[in-house]
Amino acid sequence: MELLRPESAEAAASALANGAVALAGGTEVVPLIREGILAPETLVQIDQVVPKGIRSGWIGGGTTLGELEVDPQMPAALREACSLAASPQLRAMGTIAGNLLQATRCWYWRLRFPCRLHGGDRCFAREGEHREHAILANDFCASAHPSDVAAALHALSATVVTDRRRLPIAEVYRLPSEDDRRTTTIQTGELILELEYQPPVASTYLKAMDRNRYAFALVGVAAARYESGTRLALTGVAPIPWVIETPADLERATPLPRNAYKLEIATALVRRALEAVA
Ligand SMILES: Cc1cc2nc3c(=O)[nH]c(=O)nc-3n(C[C@H](O)[C@H](O)[C@H](O)COP(=O)(O)OP(=O)(O)OC[C@H]3O[C@@H](n4cnc5c(N)ncnc54)[C@H](O)[C@@H]3O)c2cc1C
Ligand code: SF4
Repeated sequence: MELLRPESAEAAASALANGAVALAGGTEVVPLIREGILAPETLVQIDQVVPKGIRSGWIGGGTTLGELEVDPQMPAALREACSLAASPQLRAMGTIAGNLLQATRCWYWRLRFPCRLHGGDRCFAREGEHREHAILANDFCASAHPSDVAAALHALSATVVTDRRRLPIAEVYRLPSEDDRRTTTIQTGELILELEYQPPVASTYLKAMDRNRYAFALVGVAAARYESGTRLALTGVAPIPWVIETPADLERATPLPRNAYKLEIATALVRRALEAVA
């Protein structure tokens, strides 16, 4: 396997055009290679071309979760989402851009079952084990989005700046469908360079896990209060991060036989998050 270290975003984009894979902290890419899900001939290390750093309202895409969780300029929702994600070692390596583009933790997918996200015609989770899976938009694929950070950035009305365009964070994600199995709209070779967000009046991130630390969210809820109103976003409940306008939107949930408990958790966390930012 070849490792390239381009010195400009243009050079990285052209290196990535040939089926190569971008490598940031590698905390997701390396396990996917080990599991045989990715088999790139070329890895493109992007640490020299993706900005790092933190200012009020601005984050370099190469900034690690560990740097974000301790920065007092960061809104509480983002600090808390970072500090509750993964382990300290992973947060020291994992970047915010890589976190947004991490793949599903659905074990059928990770074990390479020929499911719909792998291009097949079945969702093994819907038919089988789905305790940790989605309760919203779960008809085609019931995977639950794993990123705590993405929920916080949705609540913070973030904009993603790539080497090609600017887009609201909600447009980074798409629900997979028969015609297109991807869960992100970021194109091959497109690099996330920066994130911008609206500093809120108050914000929080609450996360329910199977254990107190080092676990993915069963449900994560971010709330950010602005003069214009409060924004709510969830992770762990749908194949992509999920924005709700009001708590009543959770009534649209379609839980599977073994994950209705997630709706109760989501309802309680939304109520607590709204109280916390009131
Ligand atoms: C054991 C474990 C537990 C975890 N627990 C949590 C958790 O509780 N909550 C949570 O939110 N996350 C969790 N994570 C995910 C972790 O936070 C991510 O793996 C990490 O943030 C990814 O960042 P990275 O820089 O290592 O990405 P990489 O592994 O380098 O890349 C990840 C993906 O993003 C792409 N990519 C990276 N940077 C860019 C860029 N700038 N532009 C375009 N594409 C890019 C890569 O090509 C790849 O597809 C966990 C991971 C592990 C392994
Ligand atoms: S939930 Fe999605 S990723 Fe998991 S088995 Fe079903 S189609 Fe595949």
